[in-house]
Amino acid sequence: MDNGQVTRLIFLGPPGAGKGTQAKILANLCEIPHISTGDILREAQAQGTPLGQKAQSYMERGELVPDALILDLMRERLSQSDAQNGWILDGFPRNVSQAAFLDELLQDMKQEYGCVVNLEVPDEVLVTRMLGRGRQDDNEETIRRRLEVYRQQTAPLIDFYRDRDSLASVDGNRPLQQVTDALKQLVETVEDG
Ligand code: AMP
Repeated sequence: MDNGQVTRLIFLGPPGAGKGTQAKILANLCEIPHISTGDILREAQAQGTPLGQKAQSYMERGELVPDALILDLMRERLSQSDAQNGWILDGFPRNVSQAAFLDELLQDMKQEYGCVVNLEVPDEVLVTRMLGRGRQDDNEETIRRRLEVYRQQTAPLIDFYRDRDSLASVDGNRPLQQVTDALKQLVETVEDG
């Protein structure tokens, strides 16, 4: 992780799998930005910006925010100077059209992602974890909807990236430190290989 290689990772996985927690830890270790579209949207909401206002009703219902809002936001974020030496994407791409957009964007920027991490956690554990988080959109009805949206729109990305041999699955149903260790190992393997 400290060998001068650029680390660019995409974190996939259902809501509640621990993507945010692990992405944050790994990004700190690698000294690269953790880019979470969910965090960016929540921050925009807290500040009451037009983006935040437009996103609010979708987020409250557990639906995806329209691509038009997300794609502009990601183009801008990935072009910032701190994102030129690596990143970890968390919560983006969330559907096939976002993934196709990311491909084009990276091509334009002459960058490539290193690996797509699929964090696997069983459904019953996801619900328990989310209920324990206490986030505004973590009530039972929204959680159920977010899991459905994940299955319908985001899970197809597993095959999308597997077909390109870019996918690595990691068991996320273990103590936090063990998951972090597995991810660190994965990053080292990707960078060596
Ligand atoms: P997250 O923090 O990743 O669980 O995202 C929380 C909510 O933000 C989701 O339920 C969506 O409403 C919205 N969201 C986050 N990322 C995206 C994205 N890439 N595309 C569309 N909506 C998103």
